[in-house]
Amino acid sequence: MDKTTRSLSLPEAPREFGFWLDGVWEAGRDFFDRSSPGHGTPVTRIPKCTVDDLNAAVSAARRAFEDRSWAGLPGAERAGVLLRTAEILRRRRDEIAYWEVLENGKPIAQARGEIDHAIACFEVGAGAARMLHGDSFNSLGDNLFGMVLREPVGVVGLITPWNFPFLILCERVPFILASGCTMVVKPSEVTSATTLLLGEILAEAGLPKGVYNVVTGSGRTIGQALTEHPDVDMLSFTGSTGVGRSVVHAAADSNFKKLGLELGGKNPIMVFADADLEDAADAAAFGISFNTGQCCVSSSRLIVDRRVALEFEKLLAAKMNKIVVGDPLHETTQVGAITTDAQNQTILSYIEKGKGEGARVVTGGSALDLGRGSYIAPTLFTGVKREMSIARDEIFGPVLSSFQFETVEEAIQLANDTVYGLAASVWSKNIDTALTVSRRVRAGRFWVNCIMAGGPEMPLGGFKQSGWGREAGIYGVEEYTQVKSVHVEIGKRNHWIK
Ligand code: NAD
Repeated sequence: MDKTTRSLSLPEAPREFGFWLDGVWEAGRDFFDRSSPGHGTPVTRIPKCTVDDLNAAVSAARRAFEDRSWAGLPGAERAGVLLRTAEILRRRRDEIAYWEVLENGKPIAQARGEIDHAIACFEVGAGAARMLHGDSFNSLGDNLFGMVLREPVGVVGLITPWNFPFLILCERVPFILASGCTMVVKPSEVTSATTLLLGEILAEAGLPKGVYNVVTGSGRTIGQALTEHPDVDMLSFTGSTGVGRSVVHAAADSNFKKLGLELGGKNPIMVFADADLEDAADAAAFGISFNTGQCCVSSSRLIVDRRVALEFEKLLAAKMNKIVVGDPLHETTQVGAITTDAQNQTILSYIEKGKGEGARVVTGGSALDLGRGSYIAPTLFTGVKREMSIARDEIFGPVLSSFQFETVEEAIQLANDTVYGLAASVWSKNIDTALTVSRRVRAGRFWVNCIMAGGPEMPLGGFKQSGWGREAGIYGVEEYTQVKSVHVEIGKRNHWIK
């Protein structure tokens, strides 16, 4: 591999982590060994926690919730902790980005950008902690006054995936904390390091003991036990639709805990003939290649106006060919490694299925041999039919399927022809087209003449089988609250028994 733009080196030995329980590090007894997907070198050792460890973490979170050491503070003091966290993250940005790259395989420049986004999440969460409020009803007559209180739900379980380990964590943690809840986090077993590091950062920022706990381990043991735990009041799950379904069953079979679900997507990017085609091609190349397409909001279905389809696909293929795929520790890399061997196999098998089903590869279509690590060339398929597996399934890799339309109605129908509804992007200079499409396509996040834009002020979440509820912003904080109606009688009671 070319080392010219690589200023960072691999660790000399894997770093061993403990797990984060009740405000301190606990030593692990048994470990997962994680190798860097970009280099194949062992980088971390993560504890395989037991169900007893999980129970201890839930007890700590319960105690910290009931003793009011967090929920009882003024919002301004909770905001202070979140702002101090943002400051520490700013100081430790490069270090956190480094561990994220080593476990996930994403490019270092991108990882640093994600830490910046995480800092913004803590700042927005701080604002939300101060602004969170209920409502009042002054309309119930002279004898009755109504107040609507927002109270924290209680102990939250948080289960996260491996594609954006720190970003997805930080799109939730500040908002959970802003609400006054306490939590137990179960990160993906292959990318736990930065979730653990956040424990010591929050402690330094002044978070009381027991409010944030991290228990590492497999989904089957620790994840399942967390979803079934009778003393967890709410579970926020981000991951695949299949596991999301089992989380719903586990919640129903235990204590009917409240659920937030952020699941899969098969997101359309719709390009109309009047769009700026150069801009749209750049966005489409980015939308499918960013984070190697291992992104829940990847735009994996191109829906393009037949009149410009050939010209557009040519522009797009030229852009995709120029993407710099390579060592995630290189400063100039745009697309890094596939995060797990299993995901690498899944993506390559979908590429073979696409070829077998009769779709045409315009660019990419194979693994890239860079000497070590797993890399796949950004791939564009044309001639895709609606019933093909590459048209319907979430591949979670850099594989884009192209469809053509003739009318706005047909474009909307194609965009909605999926069980998912996470995100969509539309490219048109015609305000009527852009607005009609934004209103008719069923997706939780919509981008008009842009893609993956926005900050933590805006809510995120999905329609249909992409999930339940919303994260981030004030909507995200409200998700972690319960609403209580308080009725206050004014003056003498009108007696029932005369
Ligand atoms: P996954 O569902 O396999 O795992 C997600 C998390 O759930 C991991 O921490 C895993 O250990 C845990 N888990 C696995 N089995 C479990 C069980 N039975 N009970 C409880 N927890 C269990 O998903 P993944 O492969 O890590 O991530 C990829 C998927 O996540 C994709 O489908 C993607 O679309 C989705 N995703 C969605 C969003 C979103 O915001 N909508 C964001 C990122 C990823």
